[in-house]
Amino acid sequence: MSGKINVTRSSMPAFEEYTEEIKDMWDSHWLTNMGVKHVQLQRELERYLDVEHIDLLTNGHMALELSLQAYHLKGEVITTPFTFVSTTHAIVRSGLKPVFCDINTVDFTMDTDLLESLITEDTCAIMPVHVYGNVCNIDEIERIAKKHNLVVIYDAAHTFGVKYKGRGVGSYGDISCFSFHATKVFNTIEGGAVCFNDAHQEIGDRIARLKDFGIVDAEEVDEIGPNAKMNEYCAAMGLCNLRHVDEEIAKRKAVNDRYRMHLEGVEGLTLNPVQKDVVPNYAYFPVFFDQEKFGASRDEVFAALARQGIGARKYFYPITTAFKCYKDIFDPNDTPIAYKMSYQVLTLPMYADLSMEDVDRICEAVLSCRK
Ligand SMILES: *Cc1c(COP(=O)(O)O)cnc(C)c1O
Repeated sequence: MSGKINVTRSSMPAFEEYTEEIKDMWDSHWLTNMGVKHVQLQRELERYLDVEHIDLLTNGHMALELSLQAYHLKGEVITTPFTFVSTTHAIVRSGLKPVFCDINTVDFTMDTDLLESLITEDTCAIMPVHVYGNVCNIDEIERIAKKHNLVVIYDAAHTFGVKYKGRGVGSYGDISCFSFHATKVFNTIEGGAVCFNDAHQEIGDRIARLKDFGIVDAEEVDEIGPNAKMNEYCAAMGLCNLRHVDEEIAKRKAVNDRYRMHLEGVEGLTLNPVQKDVVPNYAYFPVFFDQEKFGASRDEVFAALARQGIGARKYFYPITTAFKCYKDIFDPNDTPIAYKMSYQVLTLPMYADLSMEDVDRICEAVLSCRK
């Protein structure tokens, strides 16, 4: 029998490649505070992600929080609960009120048909999430935001390298926030970034100060910011990983295609859509189980896989509004589709080095759950 399969596995460069990258830091003694690695990675990521400006941060969560803070927003932010808890936390921790829009059943992002009905005179922004690397209905979100004069901040944590209509997905909206956490398609161990266009340079400058305590210069601090600067070791990891990311995504595609070969068209299973005008990154492989039609529930499949040493993840379950910290504050029933789908979803193991034999074994284990 084969060994354990984890749901994910962090990408790492060769040991020697990383030690070579950090070597000159023993001459410079410059470990953080926007050093040469930081500056170089910003440049290279602007090119790779096809965006005008990038500012590197300690993590994706700080990208969300600092974006909200930089706009000096007050009031309500429309978002979805079918996401990692970070999205909701960022809004709440910024003193804003999340208003939850339900998701659509095709790509699991914000249902833009419901969006306009949630806008009130207190709405100041929209924070949609490109879940699983699926691109939100950007055109409709842009149209509605413009009409109501709302800021759009995308949680783009899942969409590293994704393109929409020939442009980097991070170039849409007022700001897009990426995560470079160890489990993401591209990692800097821990890390994140905000992306914005020339037109938003003023906000970008504010984020650059905010991430460094709001410091303007040695004798002036103009805002109350945290410490969210990416250090040189993380930036160096990013420089190394970036050299291999195209190959990583190509390998993920092969894994994705193998899964689809086994699971596409199976009664009772819903897979990620193939989206028009989108160059995908194969970040995750979610499968939604319709218990009636498939013949086994998500939880039964999860348990069966666990027994065989296969680590799948109930992602996203629970939805953020169902967590204990939000009990009695938000109601998961306000977004019935997201609530229901959170009980159906399982993301299967997905990483560049997952072997075809392992994918075959995982699919066999999934399909043998059918009664
Ligand atoms: C990973 C993730 C975040 C948070 O990013 P960190 O780098 O872990 O802080 C936010 N939103 C979503 C959807 C994520 O997947």
